[in-house]
Amino acid sequence: MRLSRYFLPTLKENPSEAQIVSHRLMLRAGMIRQSSAGIYSWLPLGLRVLKKIGQIVRQEQDAIGCNEILMPTIQPADLWRESGRYDDYGPGMLRIQDRHGRDMLYGPTNEEQITEIFAGSVKSYKDLPQLLYHIQWKFRDEVRPRFGIMRGREFLMKDAYSFDLDREGARRSYNKMFVSYLKTFEKMGLKAIPMAADTGPIGGDMSHEFLILADTGESEIACHRDFLDNTWLAGIDLDGDLSAVVDTLTGKYAATDEKRDPGVEKSLGDSLITARGIEVGHIFYFGTKYSEKMGAQVTGPQGEGITVEMGSYGIGVSRLVGAIIEASHDEDGIIWPESVAPYHVGLVNLKVGDVACVKACDDLYGNLEEAGVEVLYDDRDVRTGAKFADMDLIGLPWQLVIGPRGLKNGVVELKQRGTGQRRELSVESALNKLTA
Ligand code: ATP
Ligand code: MG
Repeated sequence: MRLSRYFLPTLKENPSEAQIVSHRLMLRAGMIRQSSAGIYSWLPLGLRVLKKIGQIVRQEQDAIGCNEILMPTIQPADLWRESGRYDDYGPGMLRIQDRHGRDMLYGPTNEEQITEIFAGSVKSYKDLPQLLYHIQWKFRDEVRPRFGIMRGREFLMKDAYSFDLDREGARRSYNKMFVSYLKTFEKMGLKAIPMAADTGPIGGDMSHEFLILADTGESEIACHRDFLDNTWLAGIDLDGDLSAVVDTLTGKYAATDEKRDPGVEKSLGDSLITARGIEVGHIFYFGTKYSEKMGAQVTGPQGEGITVEMGSYGIGVSRLVGAIIEASHDEDGIIWPESVAPYHVGLVNLKVGDVACVKACDDLYGNLEEAGVEVLYDDRDVRTGAKFADMDLIGLPWQLVIGPRGLKNGVVELKQRGTGQRRELSVESALNKLTA
């Protein structure tokens, strides 16, 4: 993409409304703009990251046999009256009426909707287990929307749902999702710590939150150091028996502020780490809470009716954009992990009027694109300082800088955003390095 044709409205100054670094940087890097409190438009750069995160989530869900669907944002109130949550949910739910005066709502989550779909379509125990997910916008009228898209009112969530015949089956689905979450966050360059959690208004028996570590996180956490080592994930078979692995993980110490245990922490000694965390995922096993009320039954082997066991599994896709920035930035801007970076390389032409520079840049641009490398090419006629500042701000993993002086000596400069390391090398080796 040529920057001269791109919509990248970066800001030099820090916007006064932003209290935390990810919100500041997302506004400054031209990723989002506010529409109203907690509701945002996604501009090209932000949308690319949002899609990349969504795509990693999608791949990992697909990998455990979870089937993608797409449920609506607007749901009928009657569905929620069946579960009893229409009244329970309170002012967090955005309630609307259609032209016929029928009560509708903008979905804050989809347990009722999916249970209805399941109940109408799956009739036999032979069709279990089922795992279904969608990635869809949610609305929750948060009391205090803040921190940009991290606590929005409209936000993008992946929510998955499991249906099993019995508790053992439900536990298998839960474990599968549990380990798959660790893999998903690892793929985004994040360390996620699973913590036993309250089930809240979703209800149920078992629940874990996944918090990623970032100095600016909302919650103070303490956990066993072993959580930082995820090397075991590489060899795990997600179709195998995961109970031992999940038992080990859930048996390790991990607690948020209010649940910390000084006794345990003392005994852990050097194995204890304390940090701040951001909740990016939350999984629940709630048994028959919805299936019972909404008649989600299958016929068992003897023809008997069996009420299915359910779980639900959320990932904050839009929150992750901010959470990743909280975990990875410096004073100059964002530092994107490779897997979610909006572009891989920023190509900077230092002298737009110079024939040799333009030729070298155009060639490099063409060659990189051809090799499938995503390039953002700064071909704008603006000050060098502004180009460097924008590149650091938007945080692409590599910057390839082409200037007339270097070209005379046959070299270009390659800078790694994360380490700040710069290297002069020939055009050819730069190309080789970036396409490797
Ligand atoms: P929180 O405790 O942060 O308010 P929650 O526990 O109410 O979140 P869940 O129902 O567990 O939220 O939703 C699943 C995931 O969706 C959360 O782990 C989080 O990543 C994301 N999420 C929830 N609320 C918001 C929000 N207001 N803005 C952005 N993401 C959100
Ligand atoms: Mg939660």
